[in-house]
Amino acid sequence: MQSVFDKRKEELNEFNEALDKLNIRKKDEPVEQKQVPDDLMTKCVSCSRLIVKEDLLSNLNVCPFCNNHFRLTPKERLAQVLDGEYELLFTDLEEKYTDFPDYEGKLQDAKNSTGDDESIVCAKGKIDGRSVAIGVMNSYFMMGSMGSVCGEKVALLAELACKEGLPLIIFTCSGGARMQEGIISLMQMAKTSAAIAKLREKGLYIAVLTDPTTGGVSASFAALADITLAEPNSLIGFAGKRVIERTIKETLPKEFQTAEFNLEKGYIDKIVDRKEMKSTLSLLLRLHGYN
Ligand SMILES: [Zn+2]
Repeated sequence: MQSVFDKRKEELNEFNEALDKLNIRKKDEPVEQKQVPDDLMTKCVSCSRLIVKEDLLSNLNVCPFCNNHFRLTPKERLAQVLDGEYELLFTDLEEKYTDFPDYEGKLQDAKNSTGDDESIVCAKGKIDGRSVAIGVMNSYFMMGSMGSVCGEKVALLAELACKEGLPLIIFTCSGGARMQEGIISLMQMAKTSAAIAKLREKGLYIAVLTDPTTGGVSASFAALADITLAEPNSLIGFAGKRVIERTIKETLPKEFQTAEFNLEKGYIDKIVDRKEMKSTLSLLLRLHGYN
C-alpha cells in the first residue's frame, strides 16, 4: 500500500515540476481573485437571468430575454420620452409635516436618495416637436405614494395644461395614498379628479399606467384619462389581490390586476412596449390636432 502512495507522490512532484517549467504556476504565489464588479451585472426580477447592465440600459431598461420592463426613475423616463431639454415645474412646494412618527425623516431620506423633491416630477417639454405638460411618478420615492404635495403638483399641472392649451401626459406608478398624511392624502383623490375633469373639457389627457399603479392613484387621476395606455405586465389595481379574495371569498384568476387583464376587460386602451412609447404618444398627439 505504501508503495502506491509513494508512486502517487512521485507523480505529483513530477507534475508540479513540469508546471513550474512551463511557468503556469509559481510556488507559494497567492492566487489572484478576479472580482466581478457588483455594478456590472444585474438579475432580472422576472426571469432571473443575469444581464450586463450596459445591455439593459441600451435596451431602455427592458430585459432582453423576457421583455420585463424594469422600473424607471423620472429622469430616465423623461429622457426616453421627451426630445431633450425640458423645464421642471412646481419644485418649491413644501409638505406640511404631520405628527406621524418619523415622517419628516423618511421624507428627507427619500429626497436625498432620489434627488427629487416629491413622488412626482412635473415638466414642460416636447415630443417630436409638440409641447406637452408631463408628470412622471417615482416608485423609488416612498413607493410613489400620493401626499398633499404630489396631489397639488398633479392639480397644478392639469391647470397649466388647461391654461396653455397643452396636452397632459402622466406616467403613473404608485402604492397609493401616503398613509403618513392620513385624511389629507385621501383628499388628494378628489382634488386631482376635479382638476383633471376641468382639463378634459378643453384638452387631451393621456395616462400611462406603469408598474405598479395601485390604491388612491389608480382610483383617481390614473383612471380618468381620455386615453389610457399601460406598459406590459404592469400591476394595476386598487386593493391587493389577497385582500379582495378574503373579502369576496372567491379565488381570483392568476392574471388578475395585470395590464393584460385590464386591457381584456376594457379598462386600458392599449399596452405599449417601452421602445414604442414615444412614437405612440407622438402619433396620438398628432391625431388629436396638436402641432
Ligand atoms: Zn427577464
